[in-house]
Amino acid sequence: MDSIVTEMSFNKSMIFKKSTRYTCLFVSSARPAITLLGAAGEVTGSCSLVEAGRSRIVVDCGMIRGSWEDEQRNLTLPKIDWRWVDAVVLTHVHLDHCGRLAMLFRHGFEGHVYCTPATAEILPRLAKSSARLQRTKLAEFHAGGKPGLPEDAEEPPVLFSEREAQLLAERLRPIPYGLTEQLTEDVMLRLEPAGHIVGAGVVHLECGTGTESARVVFSGDVGSKHVPPMAAPLSPKAADILVLESTNGGRVRPKDADPDAQLAAIAADAFSKNRRVLFPTFAIGRAQNFLYRFAKLSRANKLHVPVLFDAPTAIFATGVYRRYSEQYRPELARQAQAGDDPLDFDELHYISKRREMKEVKRSREPAFVMAGSGFCDGGPIMEHLRHGLPNPDYTVVLGGFTAPDTLSRDLANGEREVSVEGTKIQVEAQILSLEGMSGHADGGTIVDWVHGIQDAPSIIMLNHGEDEARLALAKRLEAVRDWRVLRTAGEERVEL
Ligand SMILES: [Zn+2]
Repeated sequence: MDSIVTEMSFNKSMIFKKSTRYTCLFVSSARPAITLLGAAGEVTGSCSLVEAGRSRIVVDCGMIRGSWEDEQRNLTLPKIDWRWVDAVVLTHVHLDHCGRLAMLFRHGFEGHVYCTPATAEILPRLAKSSARLQRTKLAEFHAGGKPGLPEDAEEPPVLFSEREAQLLAERLRPIPYGLTEQLTEDVMLRLEPAGHIVGAGVVHLECGTGTESARVVFSGDVGSKHVPPMAAPLSPKAADILVLESTNGGRVRPKDADPDAQLAAIAADAFSKNRRVLFPTFAIGRAQNFLYRFAKLSRANKLHVPVLFDAPTAIFATGVYRRYSEQYRPELARQAQAGDDPLDFDELHYISKRREMKEVKRSREPAFVMAGSGFCDGGPIMEHLRHGLPNPDYTVVLGGFTAPDTLSRDLANGEREVSVEGTKIQVEAQILSLEGMSGHADGGTIVDWVHGIQDAPSIIMLNHGEDEARLALAKRLEAVRDWRVLRTAGEERVEL
C-alpha cells in the first residue's frame, strides 16, 4: 500500500479524502454535483464527474485531439482518484468520448463501463487499433522518424497498451436503449437514442431518492436531422439538470445546403475530367453517411465512378450499422429489413490489402477514395493526401467540423502550403467543403431539442464546444426561455 492510500480511510461515506496526488476532492452530499473534467470550452476530451450521495459516476473519458501539445495533454488523466469511481458511462464510440477509457485501469479504476450493445461491439476494436497506432508511432520515432512532429518533440505518447484495450473490452457492460440499470445505491442509469452515430446514447442518471433526487441528463453528441441513415434525435422526456454539447452551438445549417447535389456535381466532374476525389472520413458516422449518399447517387445513375473504401475500422463499423439497422430513420430501417441495404451499391470496393492500395494510387482512373481519419491527423488518408495534394488532378472534399491545429483545418482555411506528417507540401489539388454534412446538430436544432423536453431542466451546463460556440448557444437558449445556462471552467464543481 503506497503512502497516498494510507492517508485515506476506506470508509466510502467519509466527507473529504485527503490526497497529495489528486487536486479534485470527492465530497459526499445528498444533492448531486457535476464537474466538467474535460471538454470545458473545447470540443474534444469529453469527461464529466457526477457525485451523488456516496456514488461517483464518470460520463465519457475521451481523447484530446489537435496539436502536438494537445496530444501530450492526453497523458494526464483528469485529476480525480479513479479508485473511488464506481462506474463509467459511455455516450458513444467516438475517440473524443472514449479514447482514454483504456487508461483508467492503471489508475486504479475497478468498475465497469456501461454503454449500448452497438457501442460495445465497436469499442474493443477501436481501442486495440488505437493502442497499435500509438505503439507504431513510438517505434517510428525511435527508428529516427518524426513524421508530423516538431523538431524538438519528445517521444509520442503511448496512452495504453493492447493488453489494457483488452481489459477495457472485458469491463464493458452493454445495456439496450430504454432499460434501467442500478449502477450504485444512489444512481440508476438509462440510455436513450441520440441519433448521431450507431449506438450513441443520451445518458439519463436518476440520482438519489425522494425530495433530494435529481434527474441528470447528458446529451452526449446530439445528432443532426440531416445525417442518414441514423434517425433524427428525439428530445428526452424529463431532466432536472442537462449537460449539453455545443459543438455547432454558434452555427446554423444553411437552408440551401444540399450535399447530395454537390456530390452529384463532384462525381460528374470526376468522371468527365478524370479526377481523383479524396474524402477524409471518420470511421464511425461520416463514413456511413457518405456510403448512404453514394448509394443514393448510384441508384439515381449519377455516380459514374468507383468508390474505394480504404478504412478498415470504418468497414468494420459499417457491419455494425447493418446489424443495428433498426436505429436508422424509419423508411431506411424498413428498406434494410426488406433486404435492400441502404449503404450498399455496385460501385463500392473495399480496399483491405496494402497491395490493393498501391494499385489504387498508381491508377489514373477517376475514383472516389474514402479513408480515415477525418481530421487528416493520421491513418490511411495521409498516404493519399501526400500523393494527391500536390496534384491538380485531385480534389479533396471536407465535410463537417475540422479540429483546430489539424491538417483538415488548414485545408478548410485554404492554406496553400501545408505540412503532411512533417513534409511541407504545396497544395495544387482542388479543396472543397461540403455544406450540411456535420453529424452534430446545429444551434437551432439543439435549442429545439432542449425545448422539446416536456419536464424541462432548471439548469443547463454547456460542454463539448469551443468557448465562442458555448456563448452563442447560451444566448440562443436564454432567448427562448429563462434557463440557467452555465459555461463552467474545467474542474469547476457545480452543486445542484
Ligand atoms: Zn461524436
